[in-house]
Amino acid sequence: MHDRILHHLAYSQGRGAEFATTFDWRMAVSHTVRDLMTQTWIDAFRAARDQGAKRVYYLSMEFLIGRILDDAIINLRLEKPMDEALGMLGLNKQEILDDEPDAALGNGGLGRLAACFMESLSSLSCPAFGFGIRYEHGLFRQRFEGGQQVESPEDWLNQPHPWEFVKIDYSYTVGFKGHVERIGGRSVWHPGESVIARAYDTPVIGWGGHWANTLRLWGAHPTTLLDLHRFNAGDHTAAAEPEALARTLSRVLYPDDTTDAGKELRLKQEYFLTSASLQDILRRFFQEYSDLEMLPDKVAIQLNDTHPAIAGPELIRLLMDDHGLAFEKARDLARGVLNYTNHTLMPEALERWSTWLMGRVLPRHMQIIQMIDDDHRRTSGRPPHVGIIQHDQVLMGELAFVMASRVNGVSALHTELVKNTVFADLHRLHPDRIVNQTNGVTPRRWMRLANPGLARLLDDTIGEGWTTDLDRLRALEPHADDAAFRESLSGVKRANKVWLSNGLLAGLGVRADPDAIFDVQIKRIHEYKRQLLNILEAIALWKRIHDDPKGDWTPRIKIFGGKAAPGYWLAKSVIHLINDVAATINGDPVTAKFLQIAYPSNYNVSMAEDLIPAADLSEQISTAGKEASGTGNMKFTLNGALTVGTLDGANVEIRDLVGPENFFLFGLTAEKAAAEAATPGHARHAIEQSEDLKTALHLIAEGRFGRAENYYHLLDRTWNDDPFLVASDFDAYFATQRRIDAAYRDSAAWDRMAALNIARAGFFSSDRTIRGYMKDIWQARPVVI
Ligand SMILES: *Cc1c(COP(=O)(O)O)cnc(C)c1O
Repeated sequence: MHDRILHHLAYSQGRGAEFATTFDWRMAVSHTVRDLMTQTWIDAFRAARDQGAKRVYYLSMEFLIGRILDDAIINLRLEKPMDEALGMLGLNKQEILDDEPDAALGNGGLGRLAACFMESLSSLSCPAFGFGIRYEHGLFRQRFEGGQQVESPEDWLNQPHPWEFVKIDYSYTVGFKGHVERIGGRSVWHPGESVIARAYDTPVIGWGGHWANTLRLWGAHPTTLLDLHRFNAGDHTAAAEPEALARTLSRVLYPDDTTDAGKELRLKQEYFLTSASLQDILRRFFQEYSDLEMLPDKVAIQLNDTHPAIAGPELIRLLMDDHGLAFEKARDLARGVLNYTNHTLMPEALERWSTWLMGRVLPRHMQIIQMIDDDHRRTSGRPPHVGIIQHDQVLMGELAFVMASRVNGVSALHTELVKNTVFADLHRLHPDRIVNQTNGVTPRRWMRLANPGLARLLDDTIGEGWTTDLDRLRALEPHADDAAFRESLSGVKRANKVWLSNGLLAGLGVRADPDAIFDVQIKRIHEYKRQLLNILEAIALWKRIHDDPKGDWTPRIKIFGGKAAPGYWLAKSVIHLINDVAATINGDPVTAKFLQIAYPSNYNVSMAEDLIPAADLSEQISTAGKEASGTGNMKFTLNGALTVGTLDGANVEIRDLVGPENFFLFGLTAEKAAAEAATPGHARHAIEQSEDLKTALHLIAEGRFGRAENYYHLLDRTWNDDPFLVASDFDAYFATQRRIDAAYRDSAAWDRMAALNIARAGFFSSDRTIRGYMKDIWQARPVVI
């Protein structure tokens, strides 16, 4: 191994060892590791083709991958030889790993799910491609100035990316705008603009190095480099226009996952991903087969949310206009391969495009969408208020539903709500189409990589088999009653807490006692996720401690992490408030040893890997009915944190599995929450009932945490509107937190609960989720080399 590293240092980096920087060493190590996965990758590709396997294509606008190097080392089982090699070279492994920028091509849960799925597809040797966009700038970097979020562009491709292979022969033209002409009974689209989509492939190695799939990210390139004609005529700006269009298409990730921007560039990005991917899928199909009838036997396509929902019309277009099929045939084939995952019920997140914009950017697709809608009206006997085109808007959820074989929700509760709310009418017409696939996370990254101490303890206690068969964690159950095992488990947790205290938290100037409860809420900042509820509880608790500093309080450190969408003002004032409250509370000598607040900036996958293993308490406190599933909740449970949570998303299943006695439940149910939100004056009424909440709000209004004016809007909304029921759930939340304070003091009982949470959470492996998709949605099978 150490020869290979030195080889790459010389021949890939062009450096002698005595001149090499950390970056040079990381490149050399990464190329060494990449070499060791490449043969598997090629063999897997060949085996899938030789066996005529059905291929799965996962289309997603986001892949929130994080770092690749350590994940590859672990999956290839190279930890020992790599440690030895780096030891011989006198290198610090952690320093090399930390040099890698996070691949942050996603906003949050949806993109991280796609990344976990890619890893599980490879670990299960299911032949698959992930298709996405190679954004030059991933999710923005966050820093705080005066407690407020400031964004700056992320720049991961400013340095060589050692994992990818450029496939310049896999390039496709993607058109926009222009007009449609009828020639001899066929429609011909003459785009007014076009770009080239070029494939950049990253191998994704599965556990044990037995299989690797491809993450194929499309980069946009100009069709003509320069309009020489215009350039020579002196119009230098116009001459560079084709290049400018191409560059913007794959330049930045849209930084908001919960509201639909409705912007032309976003529609173009979505079509760019979809068209390039479908052209590639058809090219690959025709390499092996000539009869399009076989398409549904050989291809399964998953649409991750509606972002690639233009796939229905695009596939019909390719089959009709390029391959001469009749509409009905093209429709049946398209529906035979397409499936759609719904991720949200919130109206502001449901994508819709004006027919005007759709018709201008994608004129041929607008015609086909009209045909799909007319056809569905005729064939389904739907009522008049149901349809894809409504009030001059194209509803992408309806389009995806109508064009899919299967539509899935992402947790049991969410799937029921999908059936009863957003798609109630379509569900009545197509009662077999909606299925559930509860999300999961990969235990390789979220346990082995993030928490090596826990992985070692599990290996020693129940063997390594849990890594690929997470249900085997059940074998831990009897050990929960074994004091020696509990001691080891809490020892692992404590070591993780110490490591976090000495690293990240010390860097923030927060004095974190490793014996305090580490109470963690990390996720995008959004009203429905209710970081506001958490920080209000902190204020109320602080006030109580302050008034009774001799009291027997359980020390707690509250840790927040997360970014707000740049235009989401309320979320940004919550960030400001958390930082202002932290400054006041952390600076109070009276309460310092009982309560501290830490908010490290720029939350990302790598930070999650550091925080989750050190958490005692997982905050999953969204308004019931609003979080589709959550996956952060699963990562915490698998790392032995207990959950304080509402009956929302996958929390419901987590609680059922770990047992209600091992889960801190509070708050209104989805049904009660909907009724409460519809009750006039609910917030004011709830605040007036709660001394603690009233006090907390008054302290903010008095300017105890920075200038009160900064929070008038937030306070006004909490008193008068409060659509996410912070006030209505406050007292239940506060009381539950005090129960937690008491429970934490009985460390044997707490550790037993933590052990049982781990033992019973095997269901939340993304391997289980992918097996579900393979069986119920894709009809795909694993392949052996
Ligand atoms: C898991 C994860 C998420 C999703 O967290 P939720 O709590 O489910 O919203 C978001 N961002 C990162 C970096 C993650 O690792």
